Amino acid sequence: MTHDAFMRQAITTAQAAQKDGGVAIGAVLVHAATGKVVATGESLVGITKDPTSHAEINCIRTASKQLHTDDLYDYTLYCTLEPCSMCLGAAAWARIPHVYFGAYRKDVDASLFDTDTPNDEARAPHMNLREATSMQVQGGILEHECASLLAGYHDRAKHGA
Ligand SMILES: [Zn+2]
Repeated sequence: MTHDAFMRQAITTAQAAQKDGGVAIGAVLVHAATGKVVATGESLVGITKDPTSHAEINCIRTASKQLHTDDLYDYTLYCTLEPCSMCLGAAAWARIPHVYFGAYRKDVDASLFDTDTPNDEARAPHMNLREATSMQVQGGILEHECASLLAGYHDRAKHGA
């Protein structure tokens, strides 16, 4: 499977998140050697009232629980939106060496983010995966499709939808 194919599964997860009342952001974790999707995660902050309930965190939690390990070095994370600092940090703590994302933070409503944060691609080489190996992050996979998931997010939020 290609990066696009895995990102499409993340997009499907994002659409499910929105349907469930969350924000249209999704993540999937893939076993790198076999291409098997082992977990998905939806952004559910609004529903759970848990500020850490981001798609990537939920994906990592589900995977770790199912696989009975906190070491996800053999896995690759795909997310529809450039991970925030918390999620990038969580991926590093989980020792996930490769992260691919769709839309850049600059592609979506800037008011959703701390805009001064350096982009993840630049930060990744400095993220320590616990054994002095660094992670690699690449964005722009199905960038426009992933960004369009969040188009009008603020208008919808304003109207309580
Ligand atoms: Zn996050």
